Amino acid sequence: MTRRAEEAIARPASPFAEDDSLLPFAVEPLDLRGRLARLGPSVNSILTHYDYPPAVARLLGEAAALTTLLGSLIESHGRFQLQTRSDGPVDMIVVDFDAPGKLRGFARYDESRILAGMGPGALIGCGHLALTMERDRDAARYQGVVALEGDGLAEAAHRYFRQSEQIPSYVRLAVAESVTPAGRSWRAGGLLLQYLPEAPLRPRDLDPGDAPEGVVPLEGAEDDAWVEGLSLAATTQDHELVDPGLSGERLLYSLFHERGVTVYPTRPITEACRCSTERIVNLLRSFTPQDRRDMIGDDGRIGVTCEFCRTLRAFDPADFD
Ligand SMILES: [Zn+2]
Repeated sequence: MTRRAEEAIARPASPFAEDDSLLPFAVEPLDLRGRLARLGPSVNSILTHYDYPPAVARLLGEAAALTTLLGSLIESHGRFQLQTRSDGPVDMIVVDFDAPGKLRGFARYDESRILAGMGPGALIGCGHLALTMERDRDAARYQGVVALEGDGLAEAAHRYFRQSEQIPSYVRLAVAESVTPAGRSWRAGGLLLQYLPEAPLRPRDLDPGDAPEGVVPLEGAEDDAWVEGLSLAATTQDHELVDPGLSGERLLYSLFHERGVTVYPTRPITEACRCSTERIVNLLRSFTPQDRRDMIGDDGRIGVTCEFCRTLRAFDPADFD
């Protein structure tokens, strides 16, 4: 165990799961870096803005956990968006992450196409997953797009890391609905593990990714450190990722204690929407007077509901004349 790891573990582990938090960690002897997301009230709020069928809520919870893992790779300021477009009953999912820790999201679905027992992969179907990152510092925008092949979000994330980032990565996502005397509530959790050796990867460790067609993939055994990291991470149980009685530190310690795990300060995650009255007023001003007249409801006002947080704002049409 490294000295830093000893110090980190010497920090008193909180007895309970820290809800709505992101815990970065490293397993230095294996060149592994990772993040553990534990979402409680924030994801429960996102999943209850609409009356989602439970299977759709689970899927959106997975998307929220994955977005937290990936969005938190932006260190301080910037925005990250996960968006799916696909041919399944859930044809669109959008989750936004504003660094350092604001999350919002919704799913669009056709209830009549949802069949009993459909898993996340079948609910999404085939299409694509777009991951967009915008940095505030220089307004740089990057977008990675990867195919959805009917096997769900975690598998699509694996493809993304393999093809676009060429970083060996492992993603686990879990969602559960807890039922207590106080009521029902949703929880979500996620684990991201990445192999980032200081020394450049040997070519044989890399998938050719977006290499031009015709390039022959380099075959070879994966690095021993990554194989070991994967086998340790694979022992994670879904219920451990969402267990409110198990702290993130304890979970990571149980997975990686033989090698020593360093944990870094947790980052709080909250549900927060970007919508505002001012933005909607500006949007309404951009329409023609006829368009605005068409929007007037039976009550004589223009009502606008945010599709993320479902806040309803009503405006007097006369204010725009
Ligand atoms: Zn909103």
